[in-house]
Amino acid sequence: MSIRYIDEIKDLEGKKVFMRVDFNVPLDDNQNITEDTRIRGVLPTINYALDKKAKIVLASHLGRPKGERKEKYSMAPAAERLSKLLGKEVKLAPDCIGSQVQAMVDAMKPGDIVMLENVRFYPGEEKNDNEFAQALVNGCEIYVNDAFAVSHRAHASVHAITNFIPVVAAGFLMKNEMNYFDKAMKNPIRPLVAILGGAKVSGKIEVLENLCDKVDKIIVGGGMAFTFLKGMGYNVGKSLVEEDLIETAMKTYEKARAKGVKFYLPVDCVVADQFSATAENKIVPIQEIPESWMALDIGPASVALFSEAIQNAKTIVWNGPMGVFEMDAFSRGTFALVTAVANSYALTIIGGGDTDAAVNRGGEASRMGYISTGGGAFLELLEGKKLPGIQVLEEKGNK
Ligand code: AMP
Repeated sequence: MSIRYIDEIKDLEGKKVFMRVDFNVPLDDNQNITEDTRIRGVLPTINYALDKKAKIVLASHLGRPKGERKEKYSMAPAAERLSKLLGKEVKLAPDCIGSQVQAMVDAMKPGDIVMLENVRFYPGEEKNDNEFAQALVNGCEIYVNDAFAVSHRAHASVHAITNFIPVVAAGFLMKNEMNYFDKAMKNPIRPLVAILGGAKVSGKIEVLENLCDKVDKIIVGGGMAFTFLKGMGYNVGKSLVEEDLIETAMKTYEKARAKGVKFYLPVDCVVADQFSATAENKIVPIQEIPESWMALDIGPASVALFSEAIQNAKTIVWNGPMGVFEMDAFSRGTFALVTAVANSYALTIIGGGDTDAAVNRGGEASRMGYISTGGGAFLELLEGKKLPGIQVLEEKGNK
């Protein structure tokens, strides 16, 4: 089953389009947006609908208001930023449901944009409640999901709402995400290499399991590597280890080997005497981690090994930093790998907030093939899961 995209909808003119976007932007203490990539990411879809003279009703969540109205989570800053980016008025509705909102939507003219208030001001959103979803429709005739980053959530504005709007489609951001994912996982140009890092094995073991059937090489760095290394009998000192997952990790490692997937782990690391930016630190081989020290980054030999392993890759998928890259002393491994990935001749697909941040801080964002807007959603796709928000578009998109 395939998804219908907004450019396959014949008649948008004058139609009320409910567009689920992800404007969950970071704000500082004065409610200023510190980073607006998420808003910019949806501009192609919004501009397309504007060109077609649709009436656009935007819906998003912001932060975690936990089902209650809290002004600090208002969509006002996002509406204002969008208005600036478009050079056009974006009206903020007083709520996301109710008669006042409905009246506002009814009064819209072709080319108008209304931003609904935070959908998570109501508990029905996260409960995927049908009644709330029906109220959200506000008379809209077409549903467009361009919020990839929340499509792994069966929430009312992502899922249940499709029960109440006859025409459903996805936007261009979603199209990009799906296209790149397919290029990496469905029809990859090989060798295909997956790089996984980050703190923990938990949450990524399913990804590794699934990748064993798809990739040619797996590179594991970050804190998660130490559960594997401990399982292999190394003394990893106070490094992050999930004891209860050692067995599962080793099974996954064996599965990869049995399938002929080359599995790379760090051979050296930067160890510290405490988890602190000012901790004493040194580089040691994996065999020599002192008992009371912890490994917080991969070392130069691992960087060389991993860089060589991706030399001939044609496709690279990367999620998770190689170390505690937020602290200078433990950031070199991650940034060295950012450069190596950017220098490769592969199609490079980056996913997850931390990896995205590392690539940006490393100044290499423009040299990556694609940076996914989804953290959890990206990982769930890598796990081989169907995302609820995408599944409903597949099921209902062709009717
Ligand atoms: P995740 O959310 O699981 O992708 O983890 C990202 C976090 O992992 C980042 O904040 C890193 O600081 C952290 N991290 C990476 N390597 C290590 C390590 N060796 N020990 C502890 N934390 C780590």
